Amino acid sequence: MNNTIYQITLPTPYAVGDVHCYILKEDPITMFDAGVDTEEAWEAMVKQLNEMGLKPNDIQQIVLTHHHPDHTGLIHRFENVNAVYGHAITNLWLKQDEAYFAHYEAYFSSLYDKFAVPEQYRNVQKTIHNAFRFQGKRELTNIIDEGQEIPGLENWRIIETKGHAQSHLSFLNEMDHTMVAGDHLLKHISSNPILEAPLPGNERPKPLLHYRRTLKNLQSFNIETVLPGHGDIFEFQPKLIDHRLQRQEERAQKVLDYVRDHEVTPFEVCQFLFPKHYDKQFGLTMSETIGQLDYLEEAGYVDSIIRNGVLTYKLAPLYT
Ligand SMILES: [Zn+2]
Repeated sequence: MNNTIYQITLPTPYAVGDVHCYILKEDPITMFDAGVDTEEAWEAMVKQLNEMGLKPNDIQQIVLTHHHPDHTGLIHRFENVNAVYGHAITNLWLKQDEAYFAHYEAYFSSLYDKFAVPEQYRNVQKTIHNAFRFQGKRELTNIIDEGQEIPGLENWRIIETKGHAQSHLSFLNEMDHTMVAGDHLLKHISSNPILEAPLPGNERPKPLLHYRRTLKNLQSFNIETVLPGHGDIFEFQPKLIDHRLQRQEERAQKVLDYVRDHEVTPFEVCQFLFPKHYDKQFGLTMSETIGQLDYLEEAGYVDSIIRNGVLTYKLAPLYT
């Protein structure tokens, strides 16, 4: 493992618990991800930087794995940071881009009509405003994507790892095979592929299909150590990916058994899959549900049709 990279662990107000940032103590001093924007997180950041002989003003550039508030929160508090790198979608969030979020809310409103979601579960506006509260309050200076290079990080390859977020990038050091993985690959838990609105004029993203593709793609790289956004640092094993994909296929099988005897709406599948959690964690459970339906449809097991404005799924003729 890289001996110039240090982990910083910060509290978050979220169920996931602590989040990690990573400091690369090279020239320039670079930080990957930036926790959540709370006083507790900032205090923990300053204290842990001190323990490694650094002050906040020593940090020169920041690289972001994705737009979620627990990864961007403190970026505006580092006065000497003159370069902040991340995906174009991360910047739409950081900018709180008005046109984009008007489109985002309108998109979900019509999507939830199609998914037959009752009014009381629709909380997209609240989710966006909560994110704004805890996320970083400055814009990116540089938009990056797979194939590009970050100055000072010439050994680091940028890998597109969409799925958990449409903005997700991971960073692989090709000299020592260490990967900063954000929330793409965690040791103990499978990450949630989260449903997002597309950029205006584009098709709905299919986050679970992206997640499967970008997870499998990791097997083609030489990765040794994974530095995740949450949980323990771990050694990469290609079989971990197979295991994650298999667990997801088992859940899809459960959905397929349910669809076998009904024609169903996405909301009904969500209630079936998550009877205890769908009301409190609607965004996450609906994301997981539509992911499984996208997977089954893509694999040819189910067909979808619009009936009276509502999307319904049924078993494909081959399997009836
Ligand atoms: Zn995340």
